[in-house]
Amino acid sequence: MNKQTMEVEQNQACTELLQLVIDGQATAEQHQELMKHLERCEECREEYLLSKSITDSLKNHIKPNYSPNGLANTIQSKISETASLK
Ligand SMILES: [Zn+2]
Repeated sequence: MNKQTMEVEQNQACTELLQLVIDGQATAEQHQELMKHLERCEECREEYLLSKSITDSLKNHIKPNYSPNGLANTIQSKISETASLK
């Protein structure tokens, strides 16, 4: 029995599952399956937490800081952008 091969296959399967969940494309069932898997697979748990923290920080960076001044500037530049396109 080749244990090494089995582990690799197992790993690929859970990486795919992990990717689905991170991309938000997993079904509720797949999500649950991953959560169960994370309890016993440290590797995936670390990868999941890492990906999640990256996603979260990206969201926070994208989240615009709407100060009245900044918003006015954004609108202004959008207007001149649109105007210059005409
Ligand atoms: Zn795993």
